[in-house]
Order: sequence, then structure tokens, then C-alpha cells
Amino acid sequence: MLVSSSQVRRSIPSVDALLKTAHFARLTSEFGRPQVVACLRELLADQRRRLSQADAAAVPDEETLAAECGERLAAAARPSLRPVFNLTGTVLHTNLGRALYPQEAIDAATQAMARPVNLEYDLDGAGRGERDAHVEARLLKLTGAQAAVVVNNNAAAVYLALNTVAAGREVLVSRGELVEIGGSFRIPDIMASSGCQLREVGTTNRTHARDYESSINERTAAIMKVHTSNYEVRGFTAAVPAAQLAAVAHAKGLPMIEDLGCGMLVDLEGFGLPHEPTPSESLAAGVDLVSFSGDKLLGGPQCGIVVGRKDLIERLRRNPMKRALRLDKVRLAALEAVLTLYDDPEKLRIQLPTLRLLTRTATDVQAQAQRLLAATQQALDGLAKVDVAACASQIGSGALPVETLPSAALRLSPQAGGPSEEALAAAFRALPVPVIGRIHEQALWFDLRCLEPSQEAEFTAQLSQVACSRALG
Ligand SMILES: *Cc1c(COP(=O)(O)O)cnc(C)c1O
Repeated sequence: MLVSSSQVRRSIPSVDALLKTAHFARLTSEFGRPQVVACLRELLADQRRRLSQADAAAVPDEETLAAECGERLAAAARPSLRPVFNLTGTVLHTNLGRALYPQEAIDAATQAMARPVNLEYDLDGAGRGERDAHVEARLLKLTGAQAAVVVNNNAAAVYLALNTVAAGREVLVSRGELVEIGGSFRIPDIMASSGCQLREVGTTNRTHARDYESSINERTAAIMKVHTSNYEVRGFTAAVPAAQLAAVAHAKGLPMIEDLGCGMLVDLEGFGLPHEPTPSESLAAGVDLVSFSGDKLLGGPQCGIVVGRKDLIERLRRNPMKRALRLDKVRLAALEAVLTLYDDPEKLRIQLPTLRLLTRTATDVQAQAQRLLAATQQALDGLAKVDVAACASQIGSGALPVETLPSAALRLSPQAGGPSEEALAAAFRALPVPVIGRIHEQALWFDLRCLEPSQEAEFTAQLSQVACSRALG
């Protein structure tokens, strides 16, 4: 005998009755009553809708309802910002949060979060202190600058420098340096928003000292040099070295500003890596203000640092926008801890995750890939062919764009009739700790450079879940 849908609908249990059952009591204690009630109402409404469409569908029992409710609540409770495995091969990946804090910085940041700190309090004089003072002395030692300020990021640093030194006036920049970094930072746009007028000098591939000299007029406030960090102009090119440009600026009594982008504090060649310009080199060449990021090669928290001439830095500090762009106590604590590591280069190479990952040898990564090969092959049996392949890692965040580091990857190649490389990538992204790789030559590549050996067990433990992923259909 057929049961009418209205009869079935009447058999849907009430929210109150369900909440009294043991299954729902467990949910209530985990997620709180209001969340469970709201979710249950939603679920029962879905049931009623379904019943009105398909006659005589069965009402799920309370256990099934509780399981569905539990799944929905767990999904809603899951944080939006979550850890992932960065196996893209790009060490400083802007979309994956750039540099990782060393343990010393994590400890310092945690302290600053949990306890009152002398952020702007002078413990000697019991008076008001300056927050940047906690890192300034170390920055001066590392760069040879007279003074330093720290702000939210390098974009803020460039903004503050331009707004302070050149608002309402002109700044000369080479046409070859009007760069865009990561879509949202463009030199012409930051110029405009900081209130100065961009005056383009020279051509895309060649700019000479005379181009700058002939563009200087009574409205000129500064000359700016931008490190073309994410591309390289090759062939028939000419750019004016910082020292010569500083001389041109100083001859007219103008300051010279440089946006260095990465600004590694020490010479990377000492670690077997390609050379990246340092702030001390710029200052030695006569640049008056140099800005760079804290979370690129420096390996610290997100921040922007400006070092340079004391009188100019003083003006930056007095700019009302400094307050809006200033660094919070947590990142200041982390930055101080990171800068302290720079006292000892050997310790730095081991303790600073950015350098530790960048200096891993291809042989080391290759051995790791071999270690993980069998477990990965087993987990993907019948889904994809897995082998170890040589690849090239990138530093990322615009540093040394044309230099790569030899590395090794687990390469997942689709099999006939099996999931595509895109479906495989989606399945790995859907894991509890999403694994982010790179699609290249019809395969999914997991460059293991950024998989710390201590995380291998966590990586392999979730591999068995790939085969049952919804992403594989
Ligand atoms: C990365 C970069 C920036 C932006 O720095 P953020 O710290 O991301 O704000 C600006 N200029 C150059 C040359 C860069 O490389």
C-alpha cells in the first residue's frame, strides 16, 4: 500500500523530540545548542521539500539525521584559514603566506600575544617609548643605515616614503622599472595614491643618466629606482647603476629612493645561492631611503622596512600615515627574533625556514622523494602512475625571477580511463591538510623542497583518503 506524502511528512520527528535523543545530545555538547537547533531546522526543511517533490520517500532515522547534522556542523566549524602542504616548488609563495616563522619568532610572537609587553614603554625612564626601537638597532647593524622605520608591508613602506618626501611633486622613474607585482601593486598606482606625480624617464629597455638629468625641474622631489624583481629585461638594455643615479640626484639636492622588493640582509652567495641586492649595498651606493619586505627572503613576518638617512626617516616617522601603517606588537616581536638569528649565519641557515628550504640540495630532496615513492604509489594504485622526476624550484615573491634551484618531485601521471591531472589535483586539495602541487606537462608535480622531513608522516598518513575523494567522481 502506498503511503501518501502528507502522511510521511507528518512522520518527520519534531526538533524538540530529536534534541532529546542521545545522538543529538552529543552534538549539542560539541557544537552548542543554538548551532544544532539551527542546523536541524535546515535539515528538516530540506526533508519536507524533498518529500513534497518525490512521493513516499522514506524519512531518515534519527541516527542518519544526526550524522548528516554532525557533518554539516563540522564543515561550518572548520576554520577558513588552514594549513596546507606547499609542494608547488615556489618557496616564497605569496598566495600560501610567504615566509614561515622560525621557532624563535613563534615563541616571541606567542609571548607578545599572551602577555603585556613594553611595546611603547621605556623601562629605563618609565616614559613613552618608540615601538620601532625594538628592532631599529639591529636593522642599523645589519644595513649600516642611520635610521629605520617598520610598517605593515613593503607596499606601505613605498607609500610612506613617497608620500612623505614627494607629495604634490614629481618623482622620476625609469620606464623600464614601472613594474607590477602580484597584480595589486603597481608602481604608477602607488605613486598616484601617495599623492605624487610619476615622471617617466628613458625607454623600456634603455635609460641613461642624461635622461634623468634632463627631466629634473623645479617640481622634481626625488629620483626613484625600483628593483625589477619579477622579470628581467635582456638584450640591448641599459640602466643607470644606483651609485650614478644617487650622484645625479644629489647634484641637484634631491633624495634618491630605492624599492628593493626582497632586500635580503646578508649576501646569499655565502649560502651557495645567487646574489640578491642587499640594502647595505644600496646605502653604500648613496641611496637615501631603501625599502624592502620582511616576509620575502628576509624570512620574517609580513612587514615593510625603510632604512636610510636619519633626517628623512624622522620625517617618515612623523607622517600621520605612519600610525595607520604601523606594525603590531606580535609581528614586531617576531621580527626582533628573526633579526637576532642574523647574528650567526650558520645558525641562520638552519633555523630560518626560508633559508633552510632554499639551501636544501637536489640530492637531499631526491632522497626524500624516493622515501615517499612507495607509499604514494600504493595510495594511487589504479589511479595514476607515480615516479620521481627532477624539477626546478623557484624562490618566489619576485626574487631572482630567472634563477631556479634544482630539486625533485613526485610526478603523478594520469592513466588511461583514470582521473585527469586536474581531478587528481582537486582530490589532493580536498584532503584534511590540502596538498598543493603544480600541473605541468599533463602531470601533477609535487616538488618536495618545502616538505620538511618532520612532516613526512603527516603527508603519507592522509594519502589513503585520496582514492575515496569526491573530487574523483
Ligand atoms: C614584493 C614587492 C613589493 C610589495 O611588497 P609587499 O611586502 O608585498 O607589500 C613592492 N616592490 C617590489 C619591487 C617588490 O618586489
